[in-house]
Amino acid sequence: MALRALARINLAAIERNCARLRAGLREGSALCAVVKANGYGHGAVAAARAAQGGGADWIAVAAAGEAAELRAAGIAGPLLVMGAISAAELPLALDADADIVAWSPLFVAALRASGRSGIRVHVKLDVGMGRLGTRDAGALARLAEQVAGAPELELAGATTHLPCADADRDGTRAQVARFTAFGERVRALAPHALLHAANSAATLSLPDSHLDLVRCGIAIYGLDPFGIDAAAHGLEPALELSSYVAALKPLAPGESVGYGSTFTATEPTWIATLPIGYGDGFHRAWEKRGTVVIGGQPRPLAGRVSMDNITVDVGPDPSGVREGDPAVLVGPGQSAERLASQVGTIDYEITTALTDRVTREYHRDGEPAAGAGS
Ligand SMILES: *Cc1c(COP(=O)(O)O)cnc(C)c1O
Repeated sequence: MALRALARINLAAIERNCARLRAGLREGSALCAVVKANGYGHGAVAAARAAQGGGADWIAVAAAGEAAELRAAGIAGPLLVMGAISAAELPLALDADADIVAWSPLFVAALRASGRSGIRVHVKLDVGMGRLGTRDAGALARLAEQVAGAPELELAGATTHLPCADADRDGTRAQVARFTAFGERVRALAPHALLHAANSAATLSLPDSHLDLVRCGIAIYGLDPFGIDAAAHGLEPALELSSYVAALKPLAPGESVGYGSTFTATEPTWIATLPIGYGDGFHRAWEKRGTVVIGGQPRPLAGRVSMDNITVDVGPDPSGVREGDPAVLVGPGQSAERLASQVGTIDYEITTALTDRVTREYHRDGEPAAGAGS
């Protein structure tokens, strides 16, 4: 049965992707599955559960509120909040019994003053991303000493994030080496501290980066961190996005489609309207450049993307298309990587952009499966 905007998510694919990633790790390295931003659009709780089913040892999110959401849904096991945490958000992270990341003396002082104990802290070195973390390894080593010496805190790890793992192997190798040298200093303070640096791209391309833990996001969903072909890495896409042909109508030369009448037919053609739009996460900036597969064939968008609809140029012969037919935005015949390259973004954004209005339907290789809430 057609739905206006439907994401079908194969939890068995997430499980298998995790199992494959884990099997490819160096001896002693564990898998942390990243389910931030609603599991890259797949549903954080469902993705976390499937990842654990596939052998993920850790779960990571970006924000404290995301950790709280997972715990409220019953997700157990080690949980890491990778991102910045404000004073207002800190109780959420600590109530969720999440490990947290620190790089500033002020933040560490706030942790010590929080009235809690047993707070597990990973110190963050900036080896080139230039966002969070500190560049000064000496200063961070002193902070690590403070953490190790504070009765309320536990020095649980050291972390960094690699900016160019998808493009520059030699540069990334050098960044990993710098981080590993720093990690030795942390290990001297806390022998059980976990060292972790790798994202999906590093995990797949640079075994030296595996260390104690890899943090894989995009790859667990079966999408290619290099933006080309997930199958080349043994990964299966978990998400298919579809809509359907709600209206099919002829357009005569001189007639237009959509807001601003930006598409005007020069030849007779047919226009299929699909009830999915930027309100569902199909961005307005993707006007005209994307294709949608209807009747087994890719067809170009025509005219503006609106909030609730997109319009597709079916061509002069509509015989292969009928009202009610499914339209595939991501799925067989159109990978997220392909759509992303058409519209000038990355596969990450294609799925992460999907809003709550898109119905998520969970299955395991075609068999109905319980979803996010259960
Ligand atoms: C999002 C994120 C990851 C996962 O990145 P992928 O490219 O999706 O594997 C890992 N580490 C940090 C710090 C992140 O923010």
